[in-house]
Amino acid sequence: MIEPPYPNLDDLLRVMGETGRHLADIGASEGAAGNISICLRWPLEPRTHFPVVDEIELPQPVPELAGATFLVSGSGRRLREIIAEPAAHIACIVVNEGGKTGKLFSAPERRFAHVTSEFNSHLAVHYDQICKSDTNFLAVIHAQPIHLTYLSHVPAYQDELYLNTHLLRWQPETIINLPEGIGFVPFRIPSSAELMSDSVLPLRKHRIVLWAKHGLMARSDISLKRAVDLVDYAETAAKYEVLNLLLGERAEGLSAQEIRSICKTFNVEQNIF
Ligand SMILES: [Zn+2]
Repeated sequence: MIEPPYPNLDDLLRVMGETGRHLADIGASEGAAGNISICLRWPLEPRTHFPVVDEIELPQPVPELAGATFLVSGSGRRLREIIAEPAAHIACIVVNEGGKTGKLFSAPERRFAHVTSEFNSHLAVHYDQICKSDTNFLAVIHAQPIHLTYLSHVPAYQDELYLNTHLLRWQPETIINLPEGIGFVPFRIPSSAELMSDSVLPLRKHRIVLWAKHGLMARSDISLKRAVDLVDYAETAAKYEVLNLLLGERAEGLSAQEIRSICKTFNVEQNIF
């Protein structure tokens, strides 16, 4: 939930650009991989940046989100290039009354035909989260950081408890920032209805989920930067884990007792360790 004064369109586009650049910098968005969306429910005038208007059908009906505004990265666009020319890479969708269709606002210089093909998963997560919490803001990121994605190919790490007890042991900050741990979604075809439906429930419990053999999805109702932080914490944990595997598992990591002590000191509720 965001309190007024609300960020304006320029602020939001700038942060989407910085997010795209950061995801590329950490190796989580090669080529045109990865996508970003934010949903906001305060009044915003899209025509200043996006004067072209089209009617679109939404991937699923979202009647409770009538009037909500989405900013979404365009299909096939490189996240690292948003920052130089946001309006060419991002579309603005305002949900029509009834929630089945929307107005897609874009710029004359737009370089995509459609919004990201993963918008169905993004919209499903926005819809579920917003209906549940009534938040006026939600950010959702899909990215493909190398170490996390690599570990998602290793059968042992496809077990959620194994994944979390091994990844959350490398730095004291990790359990503090990911107290619910990282969720796990078995492999589903990219952009599919199965990936969409199977992401919603895990993202209720977890703020970040690993999509097996593909990447991750992270959400925040505070800011887009907060969602990026989750990606950073999870990917750093995976880097330590891969480093440990490469060096013959010489390190112990924080013990379960040490992690429980950290949680006690910082009042963190968790049930992983
Ligand atoms: Zn992807």
